[in-house]
Amino acid sequence: MIFDLVLRNGLVYDGSGQRGKIIDIGINDDKISAIDRIPDKKGKKVIDATGLAISPGFIDLHSHADMILTAGELQFKLLEGRITQGITTEVSGNCGIGVAPVDANSRPLLEKIDAWMTPEGLGWLWYSFRDYISCLEKNGVALNAIPLIAQGPIRITAMGLKMGEASEEEIERMRQLVREGMEAGAFGLSSGLVYPPGMYTSTDELIELCRVISPFGGLFASHIRGSSGLLINAVAEIIEIGEKAEIVIQHSHHEAFGKTHFWKIEKTLQMESDARKREVDIAFDVFPYTAAATNMLANYPPWTFEGGFQEFVRRLKDSEIREKIKLEVETKVPSWPPWVKGGWPHNLVMATGWENIYISNLYLEKNSGFLSKSMIEIARLTGKTPFDALSDLMIEEEGLISQLIFGCSGDRKNDEWLQMLIKDPWGSISTDAIDVEKGVAHPAAYGTYPRILGRYAREQGLLTLEEAIRKMTSLPASRVGLKDRGRIGKGMKADIVLFNPLTVRDKATYENPRQLSEGIEYVLINGHIVVEEGKYQGGFAGNVLKRGD
Ligand SMILES: [Zn+2]
Repeated sequence: MIFDLVLRNGLVYDGSGQRGKIIDIGINDDKISAIDRIPDKKGKKVIDATGLAISPGFIDLHSHADMILTAGELQFKLLEGRITQGITTEVSGNCGIGVAPVDANSRPLLEKIDAWMTPEGLGWLWYSFRDYISCLEKNGVALNAIPLIAQGPIRITAMGLKMGEASEEEIERMRQLVREGMEAGAFGLSSGLVYPPGMYTSTDELIELCRVISPFGGLFASHIRGSSGLLINAVAEIIEIGEKAEIVIQHSHHEAFGKTHFWKIEKTLQMESDARKREVDIAFDVFPYTAAATNMLANYPPWTFEGGFQEFVRRLKDSEIREKIKLEVETKVPSWPPWVKGGWPHNLVMATGWENIYISNLYLEKNSGFLSKSMIEIARLTGKTPFDALSDLMIEEEGLISQLIFGCSGDRKNDEWLQMLIKDPWGSISTDAIDVEKGVAHPAAYGTYPRILGRYAREQGLLTLEEAIRKMTSLPASRVGLKDRGRIGKGMKADIVLFNPLTVRDKATYENPRQLSEGIEYVLINGHIVVEEGKYQGGFAGNVLKRGD
């Protein structure tokens, strides 16, 4: 048999957690067709992999590439930092933040909510989830794409951006939208329960939506209700949803914000372990950094967003209402249940302090001097309190400011809690980051997987190489239910990474994030060589993956 491509003499890790062994791989078209000793002359093309580790392509369960994936050839630029770290499959539509389904009423608001993840000049060419998938297929994708249905667009489309319980009719409308998405091939639903409108949504409402997904075998990927004061309650909530709706639960970016809450990680890992003993199918993902990226809106109480961005800005301009908001931001302790009137799931400012909150993106040129500065520095520069400095900027920028927030499962000196998450056998490695080349990127968009392989596996010995690879490949594949990816095996899709185990490392830092990683020598997506001798080649090598295909 002659192969299109032979990978010769590499140390092959199959993704299962087994140790590597030196063997050859024969690839035909988009599949692995032999794992054996294969003579050079049997390959139309041969890559000498001597000294390199060979792994299944990395599957990132958590990204926000929804808009980037619609960007045609611009993807080759915007996804370079991801594909050159070995990512071959990208799950998008996370944190309840998505681009479909929408209708004529909900689209303008959702376009604004999603502005931070939208590359310059891109429009929305779809309404339904099915149309969005078709758009990706028509345009072509640079890597394999798995878009989830996001709960935000579902609720806003069914009932607008309002607090309070959904009526029976509204719930039925939401269930119908979820069903349509699942029928179009989605792998599941995501939620962002600290963002509007996820923060207005009760447990029972989520269970109703998850019950639609259950018969399809889909997953519920949840950015949970809060990762500080209510972390333990929030984990209990997703476990309850898993039990009642009988659905696969993925706890998105398991984390705790603020040093008084780090200890809870040990407890929540234990709760998830106990739940698995009761046959609740729950696991989590984690990004290997102690800073997280999010929107500045996440620092304000839920009621301030009701009605949309204009209402939010109007409230900040009204001095009486603004005083009330300030008091809540600086003193309000979250309590359960947080979705009721006056509730608040996650007071980030109280959890981490203003000194850990940095501006990572804003739009007006005159404010660009505030990029990469903490709210304490900005307060000093403007002669205002941090709250007033931020709120004045939020008015000017109409709420569209992104932040980098430190104190996420550790700090720059001590990451023992983060290590506990990385080490747990049920934690997949994910990025939770993208870069649309606006403002300051999160280094995770460029360095996540090499950081695990270099810093945590090779240098610190926190994980064996085979275990690190399992957490990037077969484990995430099993969470979404991918059967033909995540392993090196005969008949599996040829999504493959070849890296130098002695040199692989991340170079992206908080100060200088847009730096490609080192040591990832080749990346194959569906049998196409997209990274060759460390250089990204571009090309629409990916497929839009659909459940049941
Ligand atoms: Zn999230």
